[in-house]
Amino acid sequence: MQGHGLLEQQTLGNGRGEIMFCREWSLVKQIDPAISITPLRCKCWTCEECRPMRKARLVREARAGEPNLFWTLTTWRRAGLCPHKAARDLVNAWRQVRSEYIKKHGLGSLPFLAVFEETKAGWPHLHLVGRCRWLDQRWLSKRMRELIQAPVVDVRRARNAQQVVHYITKYIGKNPWRFVGTKRYWRSLDYLDAKAKALLRPVDGCSSAVIEKKGWREVAATYNRKHWFVIELINEFVVLPRVSRWKHLLPS
Ligand SMILES: [Zn+2]
Repeated sequence: MQGHGLLEQQTLGNGRGEIMFCREWSLVKQIDPAISITPLRCKCWTCEECRPMRKARLVREARAGEPNLFWTLTTWRRAGLCPHKAARDLVNAWRQVRSEYIKKHGLGSLPFLAVFEETKAGWPHLHLVGRCRWLDQRWLSKRMRELIQAPVVDVRRARNAQQVVHYITKYIGKNPWRFVGTKRYWRSLDYLDAKAKALLRPVDGCSSAVIEKKGWREVAATYNRKHWFVIELINEFVVLPRVSRWKHLLPS
């Protein structure tokens, strides 16, 4: 999986193909009159430190969509098929059946979030949560058989909020897996409304932030040399200019 990690790091780095390893660079934020220096995270699923954050974020997204239905699409080992191709087939088949459903029940009738999981044998399971009046298991199974010979389909309705939390924790946030040519998870555009998106957005009161291609300790050291006040916190340095630079902010 190392290769995948680098690929993700490249895309999540700075968009110019440069690779940043986790915490190698720093984020320097101006929060007048102080400066905050934190290590920049790679935010990779393959990174031991960032993976729990990504999982927590996914669980929050899944819950914010307030799903009332859970379903699973499954494939298994077959001659002439590899798990990655099977995963891509699942994505395409799901796209097809969803578009058929929407044609029949109208726009907005099936918002969803989908997550791949790897079975013990290394094959893809696709777990989905969504909001919908009803999804007929027999119809879904029939269409999946016709499209990709994968009729094993499980559909469950959530009876209460507790079940939603249980299901999402157990299946969505457990071990999202990336097969070649697919996403680890994705959702329809209508899964989250504007209010949910706003709630998920990180709150940040800083006026400006820049990325320094140096370690956070190194950046803090440069301020230390300039005789600024450098305060070390957990995973953050807060730097304050000498009083002479901000005395205009003090009551006279
Ligand atoms: Zn990381």
